[in-house]
Amino acid sequence: MLLSQKFDLEFPSLKRNINENKLVYLDSAATTLLPKRVANRVYEYSLNHRSNVHRSSHTLAAESTLLLEETRDLLKDFLNASSSKEIIFTKGTTESINLVAYSLAISNFFNDGDEILLNSLEHHANFVPWQQIGKNFNINTKVFKNKDGIFNESEYLNNINKKTRLVAITAHSNVTGQIIDIKDLIKKIKNINEKTLILIDAAQYVPHHEINLKELNADFVAFSGHKMLAPGGIGILWGKKKILNDMNPFLFGGEMIDQVDYEDTSFNILPYKFEAGTPNMEGISGLNEAIKIIDEIGFDLISDHISDITQYAINKLNKLDFIELYGPKDSSQFGIISFNLKNIHPHDVSHLLNDLTGIAIRSGHHCAQLIMKDIGIQSSCRASFYIYNDKNDVDKLYNGLIKVWEWLK
Ligand code: PMP
Repeated sequence: MLLSQKFDLEFPSLKRNINENKLVYLDSAATTLLPKRVANRVYEYSLNHRSNVHRSSHTLAAESTLLLEETRDLLKDFLNASSSKEIIFTKGTTESINLVAYSLAISNFFNDGDEILLNSLEHHANFVPWQQIGKNFNINTKVFKNKDGIFNESEYLNNINKKTRLVAITAHSNVTGQIIDIKDLIKKIKNINEKTLILIDAAQYVPHHEINLKELNADFVAFSGHKMLAPGGIGILWGKKKILNDMNPFLFGGEMIDQVDYEDTSFNILPYKFEAGTPNMEGISGLNEAIKIIDEIGFDLISDHISDITQYAINKLNKLDFIELYGPKDSSQFGIISFNLKNIHPHDVSHLLNDLTGIAIRSGHHCAQLIMKDIGIQSSCRASFYIYNDKNDVDKLYNGLIKVWEWLK
C-alpha cells in the first residue's frame, strides 16, 4: 500500500492524465509533489493571516511572527538541534551553501595554506560556490574524484590532513543515489583534524532520513523544502551557534540590523543577522505542515518504503539488457536510479516515456557534471521515488522502457 494512502494524504497531481495515461511521478529527487494538506495550509495562511513579520504589533503580524518562530522550533526538534537560533531560513540548499561559503570567506576563516576539500559527487550547488570563493579569495580547493562515480570512504579520508579547513560533502548523491555514512565520516574527519569544518548537503538526505544534529557533529547542514513536500523557495541552513556567531553576514537590509547610524551599522543576533529582508511566509507555512506530515509518518517507515522500492527497481531494471545502470547497485543506493538506454539520448527516452506512458523521469546531467565525467557519460535518465510511489510504478517504468526501446532502437 502507498504510504501516502495509509496516512490519508492526497496528491491531486497524481489524478492527472498525461495524454491517455495516469501520471506516474518519478522525479521527486528534483521536487516532490505537493500534498493537498500543505496546499490548504498555505491557502489558509495566505487568506487569513498574511502580513509581514516582526515589524508590527497588530494581530496579523503577531500571528505571522508566531508561525515563523513556531516553524523554527519545529525544525529544531525535527533535526534535534541544540537551539532554534541555529536555524536560518533561506531560499533553498543553494542559497544556504552560498551563504556559508561567502560568509566564511569574508570573515577570514581561511588562513594561508588552508584547503577546502570538495568532491566530484556534488551537485553544483555544493561545488561551484566553494570553487568560486577559492578563486576570488585565494583559498586552495582540492577535488576528490570518485572512480566510476562511486564514493570510497577510505580513499576520500586520505585527502584529509592538518591543512583541511573545510569539507563540503553530500549525504546522498542526487545522481547515483549513493548514501554516504556521514556520521561515521564526520567522526573520522574530526579524528584526523578536529579543526576541519564540515558542511553537509542534505538536500536529498533529509526528506528520507532522520538527522540527529546533537550526535552528528557536523558544522553546517543545508536542505530545501521543495524536496520534502513543502512549497518552493524555502530552505534551511543549520549551523553551530559558535561558528555562526563568528561569521559576518553578507546580505544586508531590514531585519538583520540592530542599530543603523550615519557612519556604521550593528547587526542583529542569530538567526536574524542572516535573514535580511521579508521571509517567504507562504513557504514557511507550507514547510510547517510538511514537517508535521513527515513526523506523522516517521522516518522508519519512509526509509524502509523507499529502500524497498529502490532495491526492487535495481533488480528489475538490471534484467533489461539494453539498459546500463549507474551507481553502487547495492543497499547503499537509495531512492534514485540513474541509467541510460544503449546509444539513445536520455532526453529522447524521458520525452517518449512521458508521451507514451505518462511516466515522468528526469534526464540530463542533474546539475552534477563532475560525477558524469567520473562515470564517463554526459547525461543520464533518472527515476526517483517518494511516499506516493510503490513497486507498481517500477513495473510501469519497466514496461514503459521496453516500449520506448522498441520505438527508438
Ligand atoms: N544538493 C543536492 C544534492 C540536490 O539534489 C539539489 C537539488 N537538485 C541541490 C543541492 C540544490 O537544491 P535547491 O535547488 O533547492 O537549492
